[in-house]
Order: sequence, then C-alpha cells, then structure tokens
Amino acid sequence: MTEFRHSNVATRPENLVKGNSGDWELVIGLEVHAQVSSNSKLFSGSDTSFGAQPNSQVSLVDAAMPGMLPVLNKYCVEQAVRTGLGLKAQINLRSVFDRKNYFYADLPQGYQISQFSDPIVGNGIITLDMPDGSTRQVGIERIHLEQDAGKSIHDQDPTKSFIDLNRSGIALMEIVSMPDMRSAEEAGQYMKKLRAIVRYLGTCDGDMEKGSMRCDANISVRRPGAEFGTRNEIKNLNSIRNIISAINYEARRQIDLLESGGVVEQATRLFDPNSGETRVMRTKEDAHDYRYFPDPDLYPLVIEQSFIDAINDNLPELPDEKKNRYMEQFNISAYDAGVLTADKVNADYFDVVLEKTGDAKLALTWVTAELFGRLNKSGQSIDECNVSSIQLSGLINLIKDNTISGKIAKDVLDIMMESGKDADAIIEEKGLKQVTDTGAIEAIIDEVLNANQDKVEQYRSGKDKLFGFFVGQVMQASKGKANPAAVNEILKKKLG
Ligand code: ADP
Ligand code: MG
Repeated sequence: MTEFRHSNVATRPENLVKGNSGDWELVIGLEVHAQVSSNSKLFSGSDTSFGAQPNSQVSLVDAAMPGMLPVLNKYCVEQAVRTGLGLKAQINLRSVFDRKNYFYADLPQGYQISQFSDPIVGNGIITLDMPDGSTRQVGIERIHLEQDAGKSIHDQDPTKSFIDLNRSGIALMEIVSMPDMRSAEEAGQYMKKLRAIVRYLGTCDGDMEKGSMRCDANISVRRPGAEFGTRNEIKNLNSIRNIISAINYEARRQIDLLESGGVVEQATRLFDPNSGETRVMRTKEDAHDYRYFPDPDLYPLVIEQSFIDAINDNLPELPDEKKNRYMEQFNISAYDAGVLTADKVNADYFDVVLEKTGDAKLALTWVTAELFGRLNKSGQSIDECNVSSIQLSGLINLIKDNTISGKIAKDVLDIMMESGKDADAIIEEKGLKQVTDTGAIEAIIDEVLNANQDKVEQYRSGKDKLFGFFVGQVMQASKGKANPAAVNEILKKKLG
C-alpha cells in the first residue's frame, strides 16, 4: 500500500505552453466513471446487459418505488476492492454510503447513492508509459462506489422525451486522480493505462464508445511551479481523442483569458466535439449543494482484512509486471514489451502462441513483427484479425518442423489474414510444402548446373561469390519450396 503523497510534480520544460506574456503550465486531474463488470446492479438483482430493450431491466428498487430497500451486491464491492489493489491503493475497512441529492427526470429516487467522506478505496498510484519510453507517476486520490442514473432520450420524438431506466442503479466506480498531470498527452496516457488495468483485472470492460468509461477532466493553468489556478471541469468526455482536444482547447481559453486581464471562474463545462470548443454548463456547484448524508437504508460497509487478502491472492499479473517480466525473460526492449502488454488481448494472444509453439524467439517475431506489423498497416486491431492465436501457432509449428520455409510462411500468413483459413489447408491447396526430399532437390540442382555451365566453370576457378547465384536459381526453380539447408549442402557437394 502506498502512503498518502501530496501532489507536487516537478515542472517539465517540454510541457510548458507559450502565451503572449511567457510560459504557462497545465494542471490536470481526471475523474473517471467506470462501470463495474457485474451481471447485476449495485443494490438490486436486475440484469445489466448492454443494449437491452428500454426499461426491460428495471426492478422496483431501480424505479424507486416507495418502501423499496437497497441490498448491497457483494460482487460489486469485490470488484471495487480488486480495482483498488490493482492501483496499489489503500483499501478502507469501513466506508459509508451517502445520499447525493439532486433532481433529474432520469433519477427517480431524487438522490444517487454514492460515497462521500468515507470511500471504499483511498490513495493509490498509476504509472503512465509515455510514447518516448519515459514514465510518469500519477496519484490516485480515491475510488468510491455509486449508482448510475437512468437515461433521457430526446431524439426519438419531436415533442416528447423518453426515460430509459435500464442504467438506473448500475454500479459505477468513480476513480479520482490527484492533480498530477501536466499535459493533455499525459491525460490520454492515463486513460489508456487505467483502461488496460481494469481490463486485466476484469473489473470494467473499458469500452468508452458504450459509455462504460466516461471521463470528467479538471483543468487549470498557472505560471510554471506557481500555486494552482482555478479549475474548470469538463464533463462526460467519451473518447481519448476528445479528452485531449478538450483539455488543449480549455487550457488555451484560460491562458487567453488570464493574459487579457480576466479571471478564471470555477465552472462545469461541456465539450462539443464538432466545434472543438467547451462551453459553460453551470457555474460549479459545491458539495454542500447536494446535502450529502449517510443513507439511512444502508449500514456502513465494513469488510474484513481476510476478504481483501483473498482478492489480493487471486490478482492477475498486471501490465507493468508483465512488461517487466517479458523484458527480462525474453530480453526484449521496453518498447516491444510495451506493445505486447499494453492491451490484455495482445498479451493473451502472445501467451497462447508462446505456449502452443514453445519457441519464444519465433513467437515474438511472428506476433510482433509479422502479425502486428500487418495489422498496423491495415489499421486493424487484434479483435478484428482473421487469424486466431491457435492458427498463428499452427503456422509457426509448420516452420519449426520444416514443412515450409519462413519465407513461404510470410505469403501463407497474408492468405490466412485474408481468408481466415488454417495454414495447413492453404499449404495443401497451393502446393507450398517445402521439398526436403533430397532426390527431388538433387534433380533441380542438376538442371540448374547444366543450364549454367559457364558459371560452374567460373565458380570452380575461384569465383566463390557465385554460390549465392546457384542457391537463388535452385530456390526459384523450386518456387521457393526447396529446403534451404538441403540445397546448400547438396550444392556444395556437387560444386566441390
Ligand atoms: P470536487 O470534490 O469538487 O469534485 P476534488 O477536490 O475532489 O473536487 O477534485 C476533483 C478533481 O479535480 C480531482 O481529480 C483533482 O485532481 C482535480 N483538481 C483539483 N484541483 C485542481 C486544480 N487546481 N487544477 C486542476 N485539477 C484539479
Ligand atoms: Mg471530488
């Protein structure tokens, strides 16, 4: 567990932003709402599947019928603890559920059950991997559990709005960072790393398009190293690209305002991805506006250390640890290890190939250079890839047992990626099997030597360099299928 650390990140010259009157430094803290992966809601047994018919997953509790009582879902608590452990955070044995009171049409209770002064998870830490290979440490202030609200739908009827309560009561983790980030890029990397960690942990699917992870970005600007300035909060950013654009726009707005003699007023803003601008939604409310108080329907949440220990004992290997292990075990660069471990799907893919081929060197080359290289070129992700980890292992094993050469395997992989077929089927179909039959190779070599008598003379009178020419001719005549080792050996014998 980490001790409380007060945010005091050293100024980095490369992060400073130029204004008319000198340099400015951005200060950023993120609040991320992450939907807990759980089949049922935080205080009811309703289903949580995405995309279900509107209002088909609403219990009497979720609809806030009078007299209904919330019952805490233990699995959601476990997921929050697991997330906290993944962020090396303090887990609080006692936490309290509070009512956060506000009125909204899609909030039938008139309050949200959340955690205010006593959250389940306290201070933690996350390591950001910057594109240049350097790292940054960002403090986690807290994680608390809360209910999501329903959804208002305004675009299905010209005069009416509709309410869908399927989302009402779904468990969210609000993950709050310290104001430790100093550029929009760092904020982007923070989201990537947080998403990777919750995906490794299985505590949130991290799907920003579906709204499973939403970000509120707090931004202020200051002279390098000075006291923090007044912040603005930009609500509900739903992609990393929007987070970066919104932060850069908002920082520039604040800098221009300050440089023209204005003052930044604390406010909550919305980002419009079409115009790339932020605008005021409301001047910032204070916590006392919500009149938080402990929910009288719920006891304080008290958990045992043994409950935490049991979760800790079953924590999966996380991206940082996996990256370090790969670097050591396979003697690869931080960059390569990062590529393999940044996404759980990539790491899982590689682990299967490694297991099924038992050859780290081949597995590394074929997963990173060959497969990822091709996917990069076509702009596809591994989820969209036609070739499963088992299929790629099949291809590698055919190289290992000399059925095909590495060179032919590259062509086969191209066909696999297009057709989704297995390597052996393609090799069979196209007759690509490597010729290891020495009789057949010998026949090809004889043909080549006969057709190039003059070169044979030259070779024998000392022009050693011609050996490569003969190999090339034989490989060409065999359409690349002759086993290169056998070709070399037989050629040497015949020419010698
Ligand atoms: P509130 O409770 O009003 O939402 P918090 O103090 O909990 O405010 O902070 C919310 C978020 O704002 C945190 O992520 C924190 O890091 C960030 N934050 C706080 N002060 C600043 C600041 N001056 N500039 C930028 N971000 C800030
Ligand atoms: Mg807060």
